[in-house]
Amino acid sequence: MNEFLLTRLRYYVDGRILEGSIHVRDSSIVALYPVDAALPADVQRLDCSGKLAIPGLVNAHTHSHNILARGTLGASSLEVLIGNIDAANKDRTPEEAYAAAALNAIECVRGGSTALVDMFTTYPLSREHIDAVAEAYVDVGVRALIAPHFTDLSSQAHLPGFVESLPPDLRARIERDLAATEVDLRIPAEASQKWNHACEGRITFGLAPTVPHQCSDQLLEDTGRLAAELGIPIHTHLAESRTETVSSQTRFSGAFVARLIDFGILGEGDSAAHAIWLGRRDLGRLAEAGSVLVHCPSSNLRLGAGVARVNEWERAGVAWTLGSDGAVSSDNLNMLETIKCAGLSSRIWSHDTSTWLKAEQLLERAFAGSTRTLGSSHDLSGIRPGAQADFTLFDTRSTYLAPGLDLVAQLVYSETGASVSDVIVAGKFVLEEGRITTIDEESAIEQVKLAGQAMIARNAEAWALAEQLRPYYNAVNTRTAQMPWRPADDAEPDWSESDLILPF
Ligand SMILES: [Zn+2]
Repeated sequence: MNEFLLTRLRYYVDGRILEGSIHVRDSSIVALYPVDAALPADVQRLDCSGKLAIPGLVNAHTHSHNILARGTLGASSLEVLIGNIDAANKDRTPEEAYAAAALNAIECVRGGSTALVDMFTTYPLSREHIDAVAEAYVDVGVRALIAPHFTDLSSQAHLPGFVESLPPDLRARIERDLAATEVDLRIPAEASQKWNHACEGRITFGLAPTVPHQCSDQLLEDTGRLAAELGIPIHTHLAESRTETVSSQTRFSGAFVARLIDFGILGEGDSAAHAIWLGRRDLGRLAEAGSVLVHCPSSNLRLGAGVARVNEWERAGVAWTLGSDGAVSSDNLNMLETIKCAGLSSRIWSHDTSTWLKAEQLLERAFAGSTRTLGSSHDLSGIRPGAQADFTLFDTRSTYLAPGLDLVAQLVYSETGASVSDVIVAGKFVLEEGRITTIDEESAIEQVKLAGQAMIARNAEAWALAEQLRPYYNAVNTRTAQMPWRPADDAEPDWSESDLILPF
């Protein structure tokens, strides 16, 4: 039996920081003891003096495949990133997919997360690649929802005016990519049977129609039906850039959020990343449908996609949480950086400081808010008896947590991940005194370096083509900036325009 007491530490419960001991047995917390309480005898005691435990952060939007192409994006928009997908991912081996997912998990852990959502590409869908990604998360020991992504329509074919703008030679080179493809949903269906709630519930499974306007009506309908049959969540992207939103309106003839809800894509427990370009009526629809929005502010700023109006999400009553996004567009998977960025970027909308996201609210969203997106059947409600023993320990003797007058504010705005000392998932140490305990971290990093170099060499031609297409993607973005982004049925006046700090 796995049983221990973390003693003499501080821990976060419902907005308060208490002092005492946490009793863990197997995968759960069995009791919390105040500082002067008698502790059970014959249970191993781990002295945690100077440490602070918080419920494990959940990184609710990552792309493990991105990690091999980290650093290659330069100053690029979402449309360029999507245009690079062929170059960055094709012909990847299952071993490379494993290496990418293992490092994805390690980096999340080092940034304070105990759990993550991975929307990954297997290009095309492949049982071996899905197994490799799941096995990486089993081996590292994190909690993960794995959701292999798929589309059946070309991204380029649906960008307004993109194909028409290309010179004949470039157009001929992408001709093959403009056609629709087949998606065999039996592959994720079988993988779901194998992996959903596997490993004592640590691994869960979801479906990921990655960008809805790149999916046919039939595929969306089949995906919604399959998810309902299997009882698993859907994870997708939504209204990330203005161009994507305009493209969605064209593809769905207007009210695309309503259409997606009708397809069963954005229902109860389903989650959608970004949601920047949405009006109030669409937010109301999402609140009513019970979907969860995932705020990824550092990626959004990195891609120049915009800043989500999270205060409006709150006003509409939409559930929301936080994610870093993949390592290409967010550069790292550090949830502490994501949380800080969310706090800072909430301040651009109004001079009224009461509307800015608060430190405690941000922290709560990063754990309690995220657990819905994991599709887990476990109690992940925080540090309390009966809940899973998933928590992150910080060394409060670090420079970032001094003087410690308001530890919550300092965790959100000062901490960088440097003070994360231990991460416990389902009662097991994944990180202990700064060391990954489950797999050889040095070797995992080396594998990713080798896989990244192999990917660049293998796909040199695709990288060269992507570079040639870059100015045409940029021209699309300039064009869509002049086009209306709100569906006709959501053409309400802009929110609080007179109160904007920045003149846009
Ligand atoms: Zn994403």
